[in-house]
Amino acid sequence: MSEIHPVDPAFAEKARVRKDDYQRMYAESVQDPDGFWKSMSERLDWVTPPTKIKNVSYDPADLHIRWYEDGVLNVAANCLDRHLAKRGDKTAIIFEGDDPNESRTLTYRQLHAEVCQFANTLKNLGVAKGDRVVIYLPMIPEAAVAMLACARIGAIHSVVFGGFSPDSLASRIADSKAKLIVTADEGCRGGKKIPLKANVDESLTRPNTNSVETVVVVRRTGGAVHFQSPRDRWYHTLMEGQSTECPAEPMNAEDPLFTLYTSGSTGQPKGVLHTSGGYLVYTSLTHELTFDLREDDIYWCTADVGWITGHSYVVYGPLANGATVVMFDGVPNYPDFSRFWQVVDKHKVTLFYTAPTAIRALMREGDEPVKKTSRKSLRILGTVGEPINPEAWNWYYRVVGEERCPIMDTWWQTETGGFLITPLPGATDLKPGSATLPFFGIKPAIVDAEGKVQEGACTGNLVIADSWPGQMRTVYGDHQRFIDTYFKAYPGNYFTGDGARRDEHGYYWITGRVDDVINVSGHRIGTAEVESALVAHPKVAEAAVVGCHHDIKGQGIYAFVTLNAGEEGSDELKKELIAGVRKEIGPIAAPDYLQWAPGLPKTRSGKIMRRILRKIAENAPDQLGDVSTLADPGVVKNLVEERLIK
Ligand code: ATP
Ligand code: MG
Repeated sequence: MSEIHPVDPAFAEKARVRKDDYQRMYAESVQDPDGFWKSMSERLDWVTPPTKIKNVSYDPADLHIRWYEDGVLNVAANCLDRHLAKRGDKTAIIFEGDDPNESRTLTYRQLHAEVCQFANTLKNLGVAKGDRVVIYLPMIPEAAVAMLACARIGAIHSVVFGGFSPDSLASRIADSKAKLIVTADEGCRGGKKIPLKANVDESLTRPNTNSVETVVVVRRTGGAVHFQSPRDRWYHTLMEGQSTECPAEPMNAEDPLFTLYTSGSTGQPKGVLHTSGGYLVYTSLTHELTFDLREDDIYWCTADVGWITGHSYVVYGPLANGATVVMFDGVPNYPDFSRFWQVVDKHKVTLFYTAPTAIRALMREGDEPVKKTSRKSLRILGTVGEPINPEAWNWYYRVVGEERCPIMDTWWQTETGGFLITPLPGATDLKPGSATLPFFGIKPAIVDAEGKVQEGACTGNLVIADSWPGQMRTVYGDHQRFIDTYFKAYPGNYFTGDGARRDEHGYYWITGRVDDVINVSGHRIGTAEVESALVAHPKVAEAAVVGCHHDIKGQGIYAFVTLNAGEEGSDELKKELIAGVRKEIGPIAAPDYLQWAPGLPKTRSGKIMRRILRKIAENAPDQLGDVSTLADPGVVKNLVEERLIK
């Protein structure tokens, strides 16, 4: 039995959705999706309100996903213009730089004006509806401006994370055939400069990038950059004298809004395409209800705009809701490990949303850096990106939130556009490590390897039996890959690629990627459970487990373990950790190999790349596959050298 944290009645009293609301609305949403989603669409301003709500077939032979298909709207107008009357002077963006002395704010009126100016700039540079624009910027307000300016004129943006190399950037440019790139002279993270413009220059020497006509450069650090005329233009010069009004292009609900690549945890990243109407209904609704949004909230999501979380929950969802959003261009450990909490205190953040990788990294440094800050403003905490092990959940709850703030463990994917399985703070009792219950309209199911739907408490592959408005529509330029990846494995369902367990209360626990499931003597063991058991030891900061060859069991369990700052690995500790797993889960899950890992291979968004660890455990270090999204290649070298099976 896992621990339960019931909803605080005082919290529930003021909440937007309470327990009985959740049950009633969930029932409505799945019984009458057309009626439910029609009424939810009214939260947006439409040029032409939709009369056709849902038109979906998951049949691979006739696959189509359309929501609000006769509706017309503009996403940027919904994020800006409609707020001007009541919220014109409200802060839209609080920018907090890498340097703690740098911050500035933009009101909704100022953001609207700047977006219009940049939209006019783009038009002057020949960018039209349907053209693609690559955005390669730090976490500065200009990133949101560029995204919204594209949305305003109907151009399709493709944001590329500023930490990506010239090669990764080049492949994304080639894939989108972008006409224009928006970048900065340099980025600045953790006190280090990142040569963004130089990276763009280099990427444009690669094959298939000559679609790019213009490179717009934001002056961020003032560092020297090479300028190639007439291709390269300064943002600030182009913006001079531009009108602060620009009509918003009326867009069909199904017109593309953006393309974005998945993180690449499991292989070659996929170019996910999202459209306009359904995406904005879904992201704004999930944002409002999951964070129980109030007018005076200060909302901070630490994700970079280079990831889906930065799209849906830094820019589109919150701005459509008229929220005040913190945009942070720094890292959790610079200038020191208190930075997150200092920023929380500085801007009186009420809603805070981050990833398990950050929580575990901070937890590793102990409570002191947290405790020396106040954090009294915090109301709700959130997490996304990987399963959060109960140990980290409890630390986040107890130390960061002082047992006052419910934790929203939001399970979703680049493909899903927004949260699919998540608690609602006034409605859902929490269990540490569980993403809890489905959001409105979401029909999760658990199937076995043959596709047979499992009932009640069970474990298996997580699929979604019906569509929701925020769902991706295709893989950009490769519709067949879309069908093959998501709709072939379990006909009639969207296949998530994740494994899950459903408990006796109907709560969902993500057990890891289906590809990562380890089969020990016929028992299917999820990576998340074993990792949680390892991390439960007070000396362990992080762990990753994968399968390896085992003569008798078929597969054995190979664990990589990172210890807390200042701890030393020993044979004794190894034995203790293995005994811990044995006790927690059972002898079947006890690791056969345990390697100390100074660091784990992660994607740029901080997710553990188990497929690389699997190759190391298989003694096949020459077959690591696509490593272009790896954050620190040095980590892999060490793990390969120290591998236990050679
Ligand atoms: P790729 O699809 O290229 O392998 P990726 O799956 O890491 O990359 P994302 O779309 O960024 O790309 O991540 C979605 C995945 O992250 C989910 O499928 C799930 O495995 C994991 N995830 C996200 N949030 C949670 C959560 N709250 N709990 C458990 N897992 C989560
Ligand atoms: Mg994925």
